Amino acid sequence: MAPEIADTMPRTGGFPAVRHRRLRTTEGMRRLVRETAPRPSQFVLPMFAVAGEGVRQPVDALPGIARLSPDLLVEEARAARDAGVGGVLLFGVTDLKDADGSSAHAADGVVQEAVRALKTALPDLVVITDVCLCGYTDHGHCGLLGGGGEVDNDASLAVLAQTAVSHARAGADVVAPSDMMDGRVAAIRSALDEAGYEDVAIMSYSAKYASAFYGPFREAAGSAPGHGDRRGYQMDPPNAREAVREVREDEAEGADLVMVKPAATYLDVIRAVREATGLPVAAYHVSGEYAMVKAAAERGWLDERSAMLEVLTAVVRAGADIVITYAAVDAARWIHEGER
Ligand SMILES: [Zn+2]
Repeated sequence: MAPEIADTMPRTGGFPAVRHRRLRTTEGMRRLVRETAPRPSQFVLPMFAVAGEGVRQPVDALPGIARLSPDLLVEEARAARDAGVGGVLLFGVTDLKDADGSSAHAADGVVQEAVRALKTALPDLVVITDVCLCGYTDHGHCGLLGGGGEVDNDASLAVLAQTAVSHARAGADVVAPSDMMDGRVAAIRSALDEAGYEDVAIMSYSAKYASAFYGPFREAAGSAPGHGDRRGYQMDPPNAREAVREVREDEAEGADLVMVKPAATYLDVIRAVREATGLPVAAYHVSGEYAMVKAAAERGWLDERSAMLEVLTAVVRAGADIVITYAAVDAARWIHEGER
């Protein structure tokens, strides 16, 4: 090829022929090539149920979140549904605690009453219930204690399964075990099937880390352990390959959805899990991750809306199909506003 012809050809594979900024010139252009756009229907709002009527107890460390009696819970869940949020995840808060966590599976327990109220008023709303014992045991651990004060994995399974069945009986669409006992997905699946709840799905907290970011949640749920910590059953934060092993085990035991918790500080784990399973992957944007943005925004250090949406978008970009977040309703409204 003659050199004078080569000089007139556009150069390929580099500047100035390639200018990445061309696709960023206008909002219309950016929107056209956007790779990730979280949908409100992907968001799940965590909610805290208490007994009574007309009860609203705001949680200091979680601005915008309150513990609610079933009547007010229904109103807030309705607002979330109307904003397009995909579902709610219910936690029970109660003073009725004993060594065995027996109020976790009481037919008239706080979660069971809340589920009944929600499914009566909003039958089309997806209601997910957290299945664990830490909010119901006087020692605050997620399972039953053995003789040495350690959590007894195998002895805890029957109580967890009984709790899941009581939630299904109240009308839950999905039960979500968060205890991190080995074998609990299989135990819950067979208990649900035996009780005739074959269609109730299991969302397993498969990779739940012993994270420092759960602090505000413990204030909300009153579930801090009375002694020791949860590092004996929750995952060690430095481990990612182990998360994939947990997910594969839960899938084999019959989980319908798997979860990574926390979310924003575990994007690599979400990606690894996404690549390891065909199941829907949920990620829990936890209380501390939410509170960080809220607190900085309150001080004027961050723009809440853009910072929160950036975090939630990153979680979806990493591979999450579902994002459980305290910002669900605000984020859903911001997305709708952005679309107009
Ligand atoms: Zn727990």
